[in-house]
Amino acid sequence: MSAINQSPVITRFAPSPTGSLHLGNARTALFSHLWARKTGGKFILRIEDTDLERSQDRFRDQLITDMRWLGLEWDEGPDVGGPSGPYRQAERGEFYQGLYAQLSAEGRAYPCYCTAEDLELSRKLQRMSGKPPRYAGTCRGLTHAERAEREARGLKPTLRFAVPFDRQIEFTDAVHGPQRFATNDIGDFIIRREDGTPAFFFCNAVDDSAMGVTQVLRGDDHLTNTPRQLMLLDALGMRSPAYGHVGLLVGEDGAPLSKRHGSTSVHEFRERGFLSIAVLNHLFRLGHASDIDGWLPAAELPRHFRPQHLGRAPARFEVSQLMHWQKESLERLSAAEFRAWLAADDSIEFIDLVRHNVILPADADSWRRVVNGDLEPLGAEEKRIVEAAGGEFFSAALSAYAQSNGDLKLLTQRLKEQTGRKGPDLFMPLRVALTGHAHGPELALLLKLIPADLVRQRLRTHAQNP
Ligand code: GLU
Ligand code: ZN
Repeated sequence: MSAINQSPVITRFAPSPTGSLHLGNARTALFSHLWARKTGGKFILRIEDTDLERSQDRFRDQLITDMRWLGLEWDEGPDVGGPSGPYRQAERGEFYQGLYAQLSAEGRAYPCYCTAEDLELSRKLQRMSGKPPRYAGTCRGLTHAERAEREARGLKPTLRFAVPFDRQIEFTDAVHGPQRFATNDIGDFIIRREDGTPAFFFCNAVDDSAMGVTQVLRGDDHLTNTPRQLMLLDALGMRSPAYGHVGLLVGEDGAPLSKRHGSTSVHEFRERGFLSIAVLNHLFRLGHASDIDGWLPAAELPRHFRPQHLGRAPARFEVSQLMHWQKESLERLSAAEFRAWLAADDSIEFIDLVRHNVILPADADSWRRVVNGDLEPLGAEEKRIVEAAGGEFFSAALSAYAQSNGDLKLLTQRLKEQTGRKGPDLFMPLRVALTGHAHGPELALLLKLIPADLVRQRLRTHAQNP
């Protein structure tokens, strides 16, 4: 690793509080966090709540809770403060006003009075003549008198950035490599909306610069926004961060991860009982070629994070992979932690029983019913096993159980003597009759936990002449 990569990197996560924390965003937050931790830099949380209609405090609070749950602590942010605050864009209006004034005074920004209908008509004309639709620059050359006339008519302008002509914007993306955009392909874009609120291109860029961010990491969908943001910062004489754009997160069918793939928010996975370290281990390997295949504790993640191993190909989120990491993570819990995770008042014996047979807390419910409740109806595989064993087998099992004192070894010895069966032929039908499942926890433990009358009743169900 070169010395340059080792200098402290300042990253940030800049969510808009308009919904729950999506796995895709959690992943870029994780990578940004790890990059800062790896280099001894800083990780900043900034809330991009400029869309007053869609932003909600409850989403912001939930976001903060979910980030903390994942262990992605920030060094500066809305609740912890820091030297570059405030960290909510809704509170940074004064800072933006100064910059708008500067750009306007220098002729780098101008008011645009076009109405939505004007813009729609212009786009239509452009499409008809085979040109890509972009702002035609209608208001760029308005005289003072023309502006005054529009103001007098009560038109509320947006503020547009005057994109310089005939220039190439070049930068090296940390993931995509060298990039080059021609300014003539970029229309003058809005930096302040009609209602006075700042537009994303603007406040996102100037805040990154003002907060000392050195490395922006975000989704691919922002790659083409970058030349606009670089031009803006250049016009303002502000330092630009480096940018990196990671590939999209997709579902198992290759489509962008969305509701129809099932759970997509960190919150939902948490509610279902996934451990944060399981989620982290999965996200860590999505679009990031890890040098370690095995499970990693949170403290080890920064050391193994390789920014140069971030991928631009879409990364596939697979629930089976997450389940794998969940299993790995559960194995590493202490008995007390496992008990707390199950969040129920189970006996030590029951916890021992299910310790290696549940992936989510809900799985324990079915074992609770096995131990003391009604069995679910048998599945096809289970039915076959029971039928193959035959009624005589279970009659023999009943009498063997009566002489076993609840000890599986004794029971199976007797049963073997009486039926001549051994191995899976003996154990499988017994397991299915007692639990309703062909797989599950240790049978010896189960036999001790299931009350004797229930054991007898379950064997009798399948016995000859029950
Ligand atoms: N608020 C923006 C978003 O949610 C941030 C994009 C960025 O990271 O620059 O997409
Ligand atoms: Zn205009």
